[in-house]
Amino acid sequence: MKRILFIAALLSGTIYANAQHANTTSAIDKKVDATLAKMTLDEKIGQMTQVTLDVVLKAADGKGELDTAKLKEAILKYHVGSILNISGAAYTREHWHHIITAIQQMAATDRLKIPVIYGIDAMHGMNYVQGSTLFPAEIGMAATFNPELTYREAEITAYETRASYIPWDFSPVLDLGRNPLWPRIYETFGEDPYLAKTLGASVIKGYQGSDVSNEYKVASCMKHYLGYSFPLDGKDRTPAWIPDRYMREYFLPSFRSAVNAGAMSVMVNSSEINGVPVHSSKYLLTDVLRGELGFKGVIVTDWQDIKYLHDRHHIAATQKDAVRIAINAGIDMSMVPSDYSFYTYLQQLVKEGTIPVSRIDESVRRILKMKYELGLFTTPVGNPNDYPKFGSAEFTAASLKSATESITLLKNNNNILPLKKDIKVLVAGPSANTMQALDGGWSYTWQGNFSDKYAADKNTILKAIQQKIGKDNVSYEQGTSFDSLMNVDAAVKAAKKADVIVLCLGEPSYAENPGNIDDLNLPSAQIQLANELAKTGKPIILVMAEGRPRIITEADSKSAATIMAYLSGNEGGNALANILFGDANPSGRLPFTYPRYANALVNYYRKNIENGNGDDAHGYNPLYEFGYGLSYTSFAYSNLHISQPTLKAGQTLTVTVDVKNTGAREGKESVLLYTREEYASITPDTKRLRAFQKPDLQPGETRTLTFKLTPQDIAFINDESKAVTEAGEFKVEIGNLVQSFNYVTNDIPDRAGKL
Ligand code: BGC
Repeated sequence: MKRILFIAALLSGTIYANAQHANTTSAIDKKVDATLAKMTLDEKIGQMTQVTLDVVLKAADGKGELDTAKLKEAILKYHVGSILNISGAAYTREHWHHIITAIQQMAATDRLKIPVIYGIDAMHGMNYVQGSTLFPAEIGMAATFNPELTYREAEITAYETRASYIPWDFSPVLDLGRNPLWPRIYETFGEDPYLAKTLGASVIKGYQGSDVSNEYKVASCMKHYLGYSFPLDGKDRTPAWIPDRYMREYFLPSFRSAVNAGAMSVMVNSSEINGVPVHSSKYLLTDVLRGELGFKGVIVTDWQDIKYLHDRHHIAATQKDAVRIAINAGIDMSMVPSDYSFYTYLQQLVKEGTIPVSRIDESVRRILKMKYELGLFTTPVGNPNDYPKFGSAEFTAASLKSATESITLLKNNNNILPLKKDIKVLVAGPSANTMQALDGGWSYTWQGNFSDKYAADKNTILKAIQQKIGKDNVSYEQGTSFDSLMNVDAAVKAAKKADVIVLCLGEPSYAENPGNIDDLNLPSAQIQLANELAKTGKPIILVMAEGRPRIITEADSKSAATIMAYLSGNEGGNALANILFGDANPSGRLPFTYPRYANALVNYYRKNIENGNGDDAHGYNPLYEFGYGLSYTSFAYSNLHISQPTLKAGQTLTVTVDVKNTGAREGKESVLLYTREEYASITPDTKRLRAFQKPDLQPGETRTLTFKLTPQDIAFINDESKAVTEAGEFKVEIGNLVQSFNYVTNDIPDRAGKL
């Protein structure tokens, strides 16, 4: 019920807001036109230019001291429309105030006084300001299967980003986390298109609200359009091959629903698809994004990516031609970011007539509109006193709630968990006593390597356990670093005196290319530590703090319980201790398939052909499936019912199921509804998630859940790249319950197939 009210509130807010929006939009359009009419070509091109903060700093030394002469050059000579980023350190709110004020004051001395729009990567909270509220990374938020939590996270992030005087957030990441090697998996909502599109849309609404000029709202930026997350070799920014049909089936839906949710900007995939760098793709940027999806906002490049059309992709023989290609493809703003070459080349191209002024005007109109909508012309810098909740206990509690609902219990032999509080625990492993392992990359710094300094007041896993059961009951031996053995003997010795070992393995922090790996296996030193500790015969609670599913099959085979903690943020230690000792009941579910072997990487919705290939031994056999996760209570599903045996165009199928808490404690259960099509003109996916709900049930309580399915919800992309629902039998699966219905239509699909 609460969920229905929540969604109704979101919708009614949206309708009212839309009506209001229409009025303000036309007023804003008039202002945009009036400003545009006064602008020179140089001023227009400046608006399309985005530079990094370092360009206007005295030095890239982390101090963030502005160089007035450089700032003057950026704004008065080049008229730059946007500045982004941070240089090597998290600033205080006061320092951000100083920086943004100086930038906007300089902009106010320019002829037309157009404010600069500052953009930043506030990825899991406003991660570049000291004292902010850091949430789990997106992958952890996905594991909550709870759009109310992602919405709340986004609201708080927007608040704290505006509290840092910044109105533009380069988030959310809407790339599908399908290749576990990719170092940005933790920035995604995981491998499922429905989960990604549902949570992505909730984040955009949380960031922007119904009036983005509000002092607590920011413009969102969907990224990285399109197909960025599926590099063939798993390395960041390397080529992908994705047929148009697959692109539309799996990678496009999260962007489509984000556009429908009102996303104001988009950042482009740095890499190339089928040999075409996306920054050069008129098809993807203009025909699909603007033409088909109806996106009206600002398209910004990713880091230096116009230059890379020349330097990396070699599709432009000169830097200047790279600018021509990108602008004609549909780019509005170039994250240049370290010089003014883009500005100079674009000036030349327009003067030569290679790029029409009308194309420039389109982009500048969009950029000005975003600035007007954000209220920057009237309030270029927020009021420091408007943000009493920054870093507050209320916000911290929201982060703890998200971390608690994200943590996923994968194994619990003989109900060893929850642990009693009067036992002796050895805490071991490289992720046990560092905030780096909980916060990951994009935390205070790009690589997240100073989290122990900036989040020194937060609890690591070790500290949280010590607080929970008393220091005297906890011993600690790290045993190994992330990749080389340290004091294993000491750890083994301590294990012998303990009742239970909490072994915390995982990954150090990383972001983007520095996180590339050649081997998905967890480094052998960590596995060796697990093996040595297992020899003591003491039960091991294996805790994984990691951004992607590194292979843990051997360690997992020796554990009594296994917990996936992802990157659960500043409250991750507390959330984990609450779960370990029974003060919270786990309810997270895996938002990706946890592979068993490094070379067997398949998503859950794979094509259902392995049973037919005569090689069952090497079929689909993950360590843990997508959607898997245990609780300290138990749930039983019954009475799966569908409203009708056939479904036709224009109709809605109602699906109901009873879910009962059959255990002894309150618990939340993510109820996942999958459908499967028996036969289709394109080999159907094994199954696909179509809906989910997460009821909170008291012991003994039964709830009847209702889901609605339309023919569009069960459509797929056919070999003409069209979304179709074909006639035939469909299965609806919830838990181990299955029902069938037939979709009936006069359109008979041609199942001959084409390549
Ligand atoms: C990343 C983007 C990010 C940008 C600005 C790039 O390297 O790919 O996700 O928004 O830098 O920091």
